[in-house]
Amino acid sequence: MTTISAAVFHGAGQPIDVRSVELAPPGPHEVEVAIAAAGVCHSDLHLVRGEWEHRTPVVLGHEGSGVITSIGAGVTDVAVGDHVVLSWVPSCGECRYCKLGRVAQCKTSQEVIAAGGTLFDGTPRLSLDGENCFHYLGVSSYAERAIVPESGAIKVRSDAPLDVIAIVGCAVATGVGAVKSTAQVPAGATVAVIGCGGVGLSCIQGARMVGASRIVAVDLVPAKLDVAAQLGATDVVDGRSGDVVEQLAELVPEGLDFVFDAIGAIATTQQAIAALGIGGAAVVVGLPPAGQAARFDPLCLAEAEQRILGSNYGSCVPHRDIPDLVDRYMTGELDLDAMISARRPLSEAGAALDDLASGSVLRQLLLPNPGLL
Ligand SMILES: [Zn+2]
Ligand SMILES: [Zn+2]
Repeated sequence: MTTISAAVFHGAGQPIDVRSVELAPPGPHEVEVAIAAAGVCHSDLHLVRGEWEHRTPVVLGHEGSGVITSIGAGVTDVAVGDHVVLSWVPSCGECRYCKLGRVAQCKTSQEVIAAGGTLFDGTPRLSLDGENCFHYLGVSSYAERAIVPESGAIKVRSDAPLDVIAIVGCAVATGVGAVKSTAQVPAGATVAVIGCGGVGLSCIQGARMVGASRIVAVDLVPAKLDVAAQLGATDVVDGRSGDVVEQLAELVPEGLDFVFDAIGAIATTQQAIAALGIGGAAVVVGLPPAGQAARFDPLCLAEAEQRILGSNYGSCVPHRDIPDLVDRYMTGELDLDAMISARRPLSEAGAALDDLASGSVLRQLLLPNPGLL
């Protein structure tokens, strides 16, 4: 057992508790990672707000990067000292979806890791005063160290800055993947992206990378629209200036080929569908609170041959896509630095989540081990 500092969530309405927890050594096909940086994402906020259920206590964080410090039996993909980006859908390699290549839909990962809050063997490596403490999406990166499944630790080149590339593991893989893998946006298409946080800005960069002809960024915060324009948006729509669908129709009168809802609120999903042109596709990328329903006009959908697509983790294949995205950052094709608005110590995890909830920040990084950078 090692004692580490970690940000623990005990239940909705209770403050984030940065405290000592115990970490057991890695089991078979598991690795221990010293966390260099952890991104602060809305999927952490969903738990904190009580919008998604999870076993507690749980160490938060599902986006991160670090260095392998120890490996369990049978680990062959990575070695001590390797730099890794963490994936929140570790894959079992054996279920129907893994065999189909849809590893972001790994059924074992969903049932055991996501729903159970444990690692693949159904038990956690974290404990708190001798009682079980759970993992969040097999990552729990708001901590000095994490034990993760081997398939969730993606080896990347060691010359990439460890803090910056943390955001590739959720926001960037999700946003770029939604454009390239889920929607397969072709060159010349017209695209709108609703919401310019980490995922939305990554959708914008994905659209720029595939050669979209128009990229319209939509947000309520002018500073975020400025960053969107810097990252490739050709037009911006301030949602406070009037109806979003009408503003989009003024810019692209025939309707859009693709609209990405990077917020995942009912209103934004409905806007995404309503703004489509003939043959257009609305892509739901941001994850809404559980148990909601959105409305659309099925006659319009049929007549205009439109589509509604769901995108989980950008349909990504982490071992293929994460190293590729890091390479694209290193060559300058992908701008990650502009998406990061703050670097904070682990002790400020609660304040960082509060700032995310305020809607005014881009990606914030928690740095549990500044010595690794
Ligand atoms: Zn996330
Ligand atoms: Zn699987």
